[in-house]
Amino acid sequence: MSEPILQVRDLRVEYATPAGPAQAVGGVSFDLAKGEFLAIVGESGCGKSTLLFAVAQLLTYPGRLAGGEVLFDGVDFTTLKPEELRLHRWRDISVVMQSAMNALNPTLTIGAQLTDACKAHTEWSDEKIAQRSAEVLAMVAIDAVHLKSYPFQLSGGMRQRAMIAMALLLEPKLVIMDEPTSALDVVAQRSLMHQVETLRHQLGFAVIFVTHDMSVVSHYSDRLAVMYAGEIVELGPTREVFDRPEHPYSQGLMEAFPSLLGESKQLTGIAGNPPSLVDPPEGCLFAPRCAYANDECRSVRPELIAYGNHQVRCHLVARTRKNDA
Ligand code: SF4
Repeated sequence: MSEPILQVRDLRVEYATPAGPAQAVGGVSFDLAKGEFLAIVGESGCGKSTLLFAVAQLLTYPGRLAGGEVLFDGVDFTTLKPEELRLHRWRDISVVMQSAMNALNPTLTIGAQLTDACKAHTEWSDEKIAQRSAEVLAMVAIDAVHLKSYPFQLSGGMRQRAMIAMALLLEPKLVIMDEPTSALDVVAQRSLMHQVETLRHQLGFAVIFVTHDMSVVSHYSDRLAVMYAGEIVELGPTREVFDRPEHPYSQGLMEAFPSLLGESKQLTGIAGNPPSLVDPPEGCLFAPRCAYANDECRSVRPELIAYGNHQVRCHLVARTRKNDA
């Protein structure tokens, strides 16, 4: 991997609940290289969006950072004051939220919202702001005439593209995307992903992209991280994880995901439910749902172990890999 732009170390997030703190993210670590596209997948409630919010330092009560580091270009974001973080937002890291309709202000035109963002983070003249606003809209194939449009006057796909345009205003090095395609039909999804990929190659920014729908990222991401119950259980090159998932949970996810190629097959779900995050089981968090669980699995929490450029958190995989070596 080339020089990492982002290093996440043992990141922990808790939510305050009436029953006690729920560990939504439990010790997540990963590196992200310059210009890399990392996809994070997992079922609802696995902690993937919370992880993004923690990386971007956007957690609000009842969520709180319970430990760990978020090193961006060597600066630990977890130690910065709000006014110091403000200097990094938009310039270094920007965020595209799940629903553009909620993230955009319905009472302001797209142009006014781009202007507000520029005024909050730059000293640019009105002329420069107008020029840059038209430029970023053109990047996402929206005509500058829509600078005068309100969000409700745009289609869902255009609104999401306008959000991406806004995120690119100050040429950030990392764009964090939280399920940006979830409200779009498949044609708009594909068009948006294609645009993100083209812009990433043109501008060189890195992407962390969270989704519950693996088909969205299968052709675009460099690496894929699978999350379960607040932990990364598998992380590797996207094609490798898709073609040869090693963790039993990743295997179950792939079985639940329809393929356009190859034989048609009966899709199977993963029986059972994720564990309580307030009172998690002692050993492997997937053990109650895993067909391969044994006594070791039920008593010892597995570590995320690296096998070359592939990491897996599973006792069975560790034993099999050791026997094969
Ligand atoms: Fe299943 Fe055991 Fe691996 Fe957990 S550690 S995924 S229970 S085999």
